[in-house]
Amino acid sequence: QVTDTLAKEGPSSPSYDWFQTDSLVTIVIYTKQKDINLDSVIVDHRDDSFRAETVIKDYSYLVHVALSHEIQEDFSVLVVENVGKIEIVLKKKENTSWKCLGHPQENHNSFIPKKDTGTEIVKPYTPVCDSLFSEFKEPVLPNNIYIYFLIKIYPAGFFTPELDQLQIGDYVSVSNPEGNFIISQLQELEDLFLLAAGTGFTPMVKVLNYALTNIPSLRKVKLMFFNKTEDDIIWRSQLEKLAFKDKRFEVEFVLSAPTSEWSGKQGYISPALLSEFLKRRSDTSKVLICLCGPTPFTEQGMKMLHDLNFSKDEIHSFTA
Ligand code: FAD
Ligand code: NAD
Repeated sequence: QVTDTLAKEGPSSPSYDWFQTDSLVTIVIYTKQKDINLDSVIVDHRDDSFRAETVIKDYSYLVHVALSHEIQEDFSVLVVENVGKIEIVLKKKENTSWKCLGHPQENHNSFIPKKDTGTEIVKPYTPVCDSLFSEFKEPVLPNNIYIYFLIKIYPAGFFTPELDQLQIGDYVSVSNPEGNFIISQLQELEDLFLLAAGTGFTPMVKVLNYALTNIPSLRKVKLMFFNKTEDDIIWRSQLEKLAFKDKRFEVEFVLSAPTSEWSGKQGYISPALLSEFLKRRSDTSKVLICLCGPTPFTEQGMKMLHDLNFSKDEIHSFTA
């Protein structure tokens, strides 16, 4: 009865199939939708459990099996958009012939409204390097094993207290990466200005790291880092060390709730702070300003930068 109602009201259910060669197993999901892209697919593999979730409108289609044989850690996902087909290619550990893909697990081959798939909290986080002094590495996962995050715990928050409770060995699912910063924005750059507030520092880590190691034209990188108190300044000593070591890099801290001992800059982002900070070398020098932080910070900052006559191409704001 339930399936009947679903078929009438929602999109029609995807199906899947699989085939193999000596070394590979390919799982094919026929979504029956044309607007599928890589962001719609979340593939998760641990031990022998294999899970591929495809999100179609407000529905979720799940392939969830305990694989009959072992596979290697890396796999690839391919989306053939015009036919709505997803191919997941797994590498066999041993070149034996598989009689079946595996044993069905919870909700295998089901197509259900996303709101019924259980409590799922989704929040975005920005991968960082393990330190400001590590070499910039491609791919983002060195040895396909580690991914680093810098996450602030909000005691009254919805998600971070849960994250804080996790024990070593617990699992969290991680989706495909999303974002719209492109490395070509840094090509031939001379002056890079970073305006970060609180954890809005996280997207700056890799930008900074990449620019200092890979952009020969770069002459100056300046970070203006806004925080409430001195204790809130993330990686302060690393930033100061980097400024000491690399003369192209300068950092300035601005506090909105300092103690009386603080002798540095104070307040929120303002036109006065920005016009003093954003000195370009010459009218023709290539400049990029990146900004990230709480929404009011980013919105006010964008407006101030436009008022200071920086063009859209010279500004990148990291937003949701
Ligand atoms: P929430 O429940 O969202 O609460 C956050 C704060 O707001 C708490 O102090 C809470 O008490 C308060 N609050 C909640 N609701 C209300 C209300 N109605 N009225 C008043 N106060 C309220 N964070 C990082 O730490 N590191 C990162 O690298 C990072 N990257 C991000 C990348 C992107 C693209 C975006 C958009 C955000 C990023 N964030 C990052 C922020 C992160 O996604 C979460 O928003 C953050 O972790 C808070 O989640 P939470 O569920 O714990 O808190
Ligand atoms: P916070 O509350 O500790 O504030 C840090 C600083 O932001 C303050 O000192 C102040 O200078 C500035 N600020 C805060 N509220 C402001 C306001 N109303 N107007 C002007 N300036 C203001 O910051 P936090 O708790 O670390 O939060 C960081 C924020 O950055 C979160 O909202 C998070 O979602 C966002 N963030 C976004 C991304 C992204 O890529 N889009 C990445 C990381 C973090």
